[in-house]
Amino acid sequence: MGDSITNRNFDAIVIGSGISGGWAAKELCEKGLKTLVLERGRDVKHLKDYPTTNMNPWEFKHFGKVPYAIEKDNPVISRCYAFREDAMHFFVKDTEHPYVQEKPFDWIRGYQVGGKSIMWARQTQRWSDFDFEGPARDGFAVDWPIRYKDVDAWYSHVEKFAGISGNKDGLATLPDGEFLPADDLNCVEEYFKAQVKKKYTDRHVIYARCAHLTQPTELHLQQGRGQCQKRNLCQRGCPFGGYYNSNSTTIPWAEKTGNMTLRPHSVVHSIIYDESKGKATGVRVIDANTKETLEFFAPIIFVNAAAYNTNLILLNSTSNRFPNGLGNDSGVLGKYVAFHNYRARVNGKYDGFLDSTTDGRRPTSAYIPRFRNVFKQETDFLRGYAMTFSANRGSKQKNEGFGEELKNNLLSEPELGPWYIGAGMMGETIPKETNFVSLDPTKKDEWGIPQLKISIDYDDNDEKMIQDFFTEMTKMFTEAGFTDIKTSDSKQAPGLDIHEMGGVRMGNDPKTSILNKWHQVHACKNVFVTDGACMTSTSTQNPSLTYMAFTARAVDYAVKQLKKGEL
Ligand SMILES: Cc1cc2nc3c(=O)[nH]c(=O)nc-3n(C[C@H](O)[C@H](O)[C@H](O)COP(=O)(O)OP(=O)(O)OC[C@H]3O[C@@H](n4cnc5c(N)ncnc54)[C@H](O)[C@@H]3O)c2cc1C
Repeated sequence: MGDSITNRNFDAIVIGSGISGGWAAKELCEKGLKTLVLERGRDVKHLKDYPTTNMNPWEFKHFGKVPYAIEKDNPVISRCYAFREDAMHFFVKDTEHPYVQEKPFDWIRGYQVGGKSIMWARQTQRWSDFDFEGPARDGFAVDWPIRYKDVDAWYSHVEKFAGISGNKDGLATLPDGEFLPADDLNCVEEYFKAQVKKKYTDRHVIYARCAHLTQPTELHLQQGRGQCQKRNLCQRGCPFGGYYNSNSTTIPWAEKTGNMTLRPHSVVHSIIYDESKGKATGVRVIDANTKETLEFFAPIIFVNAAAYNTNLILLNSTSNRFPNGLGNDSGVLGKYVAFHNYRARVNGKYDGFLDSTTDGRRPTSAYIPRFRNVFKQETDFLRGYAMTFSANRGSKQKNEGFGEELKNNLLSEPELGPWYIGAGMMGETIPKETNFVSLDPTKKDEWGIPQLKISIDYDDNDEKMIQDFFTEMTKMFTEAGFTDIKTSDSKQAPGLDIHEMGGVRMGNDPKTSILNKWHQVHACKNVFVTDGACMTSTSTQNPSLTYMAFTARAVDYAVKQLKKGEL
């Protein structure tokens, strides 16, 4: 393509169109800035580009499974639970975009307009001050330059627009937000909640907050979205817009302003730094199809390529002033990356409530916020873990026979077994200098960009935390009368949690961090990073809601600074 965009000058550039980039686009465009959104993948239009959204199970050639040949050639992505026949077209295959695993790391990516927002699991819990104060209190990483009060209103701002369902639980560890009605916990989950409440004052079982329109507001209807139908087929893209993804929500809203130019197939190579001006002037792009190099210019640049790709872009943005990557005076760029530890589970059985079962579906499950080391240090490991919790009645459908008999068996009531219960750990990991990403010195991708080398591992803190989770969960399950309790450690490599964070961390001191409290690169103030790369620590909560709030807050600041002539 010679280039369809003849104008190369904009008021703002956003790199990436996923969860955080979608928010940057919406906020910048609403504030009147002519904004260029650069996305390396193809366009995915809401409704039009969800090819499997209305397919029935029998219409899938492989009954929902990934064909063996694809699985064999793509072992990393095949380990992701959501990489199935109905949604595999939204995931990056290992063979398409190789990276270097100095240590095993399962890097799960989605390269298209909407990024991973199409396939995400939509869990959206706020952070609290127990999270923002963590590094300072427990002496790891660096102090966050912000606190909960700095983002509280921005959480509300994004929750109202995205649509988050939940209950006001009144917990200090998990602040309440602007919620649409929650679904119900089932009888065994309610039972466990009551048992936990009886025994503990600091442990709570709640309905997990999630980005679903249980009751759309006028604002959601204006977006063209409707009520969640509880199909639980979200990873295909939702024909009702019932859950939040960028494609149904922020991107079309930005488009409606008339201020957005979206350029798919645009692989950002680096950010252009002008030494005489002391700031970034634009970005260098390789057209994904033609391999042509193009440059685009703007006074504000938001980097939202998802945590590790944002690291890659900054590390690859070298100049006389920044020979080791943009803003990397401190040498910490790419370092102190972290993730969530999802290795551990505890399962069991319950013989009560045999007169009840569940009917229908719901988009989320129960959630137990962190209770370990919250108010004081209680264990020989730092920080703690949150947990998912769910209970389901086991059932067996008769499927024997042929013809009429088979049909009748399939139409008969399934035989119900006992209730099975399970909890999954979501552990906070500690960012360390020895966990880092860097550019491979020799290997390049198809577009001539260095491949990312990932060197990340668990540590002793993670191992101790897993043991504590096993002990505490087994105790809580036993106290509730659950039986057949079994612990399991998947030993999976880091990455499958899909919550990679850090490398471009925020902090007060430019000597030990890359970004200031407004997400500006300390040494290059017109570049903002608001995706997972900016995270100083990881907390236990699913992070994307926090990226959304950070992005809206940073855009507000950036536009005010631009208007004052400060950028
Ligand atoms: C199966 C699954 C379940 C998940 N569940 C949850 C959950 O329940 N809760 C939660 O909080 N999070 C969840 N996540 C994680 C969540 O999806 C991510 O945290 C979130 O999408 C990150 O937003 P982002 O904008 O940083 O990145 P993305 O949404 O990945 O978007 C980044 C975009 O940048 C583009 N890009 C990358 N490099 C370049 C480049 N060089 N040039 C141009 N464009 C580029 C990509 O193509 C992509 O479109 C889940 C993810 C998956 C896959």
